Amino acid sequence: MIQKVLIANRGEIALRIVRACRELGIKTLAVYSEADVQSLHVQLADEAICIGGPKSSDSYLRADRIISAAEIADVDAIHPGYGVLSENAKFAEQCESCNIKFIGPKSKSIKMMGDKAIAKDTVRKAGVPIVPGSDGPVESETEAVKIARKIGYPVIIKAVAGGGGRGMRIAHNDVSFAKEYYVARGEAEKAFGNGAVYIEKYIEKPRHIEFQILADAHGHVLHLGERDCSVQRRHQKLIEESPSPFLTPDLRKRMGKAAVKAAEAAAYENAGTIEFLVDAKGNFYFIEMNTRIQVEHPVTEEVTGIDLIKEQIRVAYGEKLGFDQGVVMFEGHAIECSINAEDPARNFAPSPGTIGLYYAPGGHGVRVDSHAYSGYAIPPYYDSMIGKLICTGSTRKVALERAYRALSEYLIRGIKTTIPLHRAIMADPIFIEGKATTAYMEDFLGRTASDLFT
Ligand code: ADP
Repeated sequence: MIQKVLIANRGEIALRIVRACRELGIKTLAVYSEADVQSLHVQLADEAICIGGPKSSDSYLRADRIISAAEIADVDAIHPGYGVLSENAKFAEQCESCNIKFIGPKSKSIKMMGDKAIAKDTVRKAGVPIVPGSDGPVESETEAVKIARKIGYPVIIKAVAGGGGRGMRIAHNDVSFAKEYYVARGEAEKAFGNGAVYIEKYIEKPRHIEFQILADAHGHVLHLGERDCSVQRRHQKLIEESPSPFLTPDLRKRMGKAAVKAAEAAAYENAGTIEFLVDAKGNFYFIEMNTRIQVEHPVTEEVTGIDLIKEQIRVAYGEKLGFDQGVVMFEGHAIECSINAEDPARNFAPSPGTIGLYYAPGGHGVRVDSHAYSGYAIPPYYDSMIGKLICTGSTRKVALERAYRALSEYLIRGIKTTIPLHRAIMADPIFIEGKATTAYMEDFLGRTASDLFT
């Protein structure tokens, strides 16, 4: 078995991995930037090594320093978490060649699914429906406009190397297309160092429903049900829940089978996610695969009772999955709210600073995954998520009522957070009725007085 794991991440996910390792009797090595000395994952890991300056490009994205730390501390494996190097095929390859287990899929699966155009082509050949669009990246504006007209407006221009909703623009006609095409390319170049874009039909008011995949190194692939992540702002998820209030048992079954087929087409190993858009009629389309653990994985853990981080470590070690699709049981409902250090009343402006009092809610069915504590200074260099509140209940109604109660107890003084916004959503009739699509947040923010969020 693996003896020691290096955690190539920070924040709540680093802490989540420390906790799983500790329960498995595995030692942990935290790597951290100069700005994260105070972070809980550094304090709770068995060992810690500073790998550079505050900026991610000087620390968490420095593969060379992380691999050196792994060698100095003699670890057997690296867990990349999400973000940073988690979907970097070259990093996975470097780990493979240094004989350090990368806790994730093989580098060739990351490469295949990391290029969204290749990913779409791969799953389409396996019989999984995809959003109509260009065959791969578009070469020029003239070619792009032709394709956009053929698909029919509105269309969405997306970065081949995309992630986090960046490099994504919507166009409604030739004129706006000409402008948005260059904006998308520029954004993609800046964010990913790769300006290549492709075009898709823009699905109006869809739901974002994704399936959790778990696969071992012995060709056994199964899914752990879905997460509905339709509540998004600027294509970034804010709330995730399982099961989806929209899916019927039949649609769930068909989408689950398609998700497994998509993962098999990538010869996938470890935990991954197949993302779909679903239109009002229940037509579903693959949009991408995330070849890593996701922020919202706890909702799946809460409804299945399966610890995904532990499963990731086990299958990376070569163990067979200990169960079949047929025995995966789903119980109750789980909902997760991302708690961000942002001011929702001021257009979600980042709100870094020092937390005064921090008090996390508790009680039956309440889980908080967070690296925050009283006196913790949130560094301004990283994304604004400071924790996740996950509430469960026997039914969706119970889970939502519990989330409202827990949000009312959650105290984070000294900075602005998204807690009041989440509380307002938990009390919103449209959300309560399970009617939220990806257009929900814009509508909600437009019709709700922002002083409710302060
Ligand atoms: P990223 O990798 O940047 O997160 P995704 O491809 O996963 O990008 O898409 C993120 C979100 O953008 C989706 O959940 C959805 O809200 C929106 N989106 C993406 N593609 C489409 C599309 N073809 N039609 C409508 N909305 C889309």
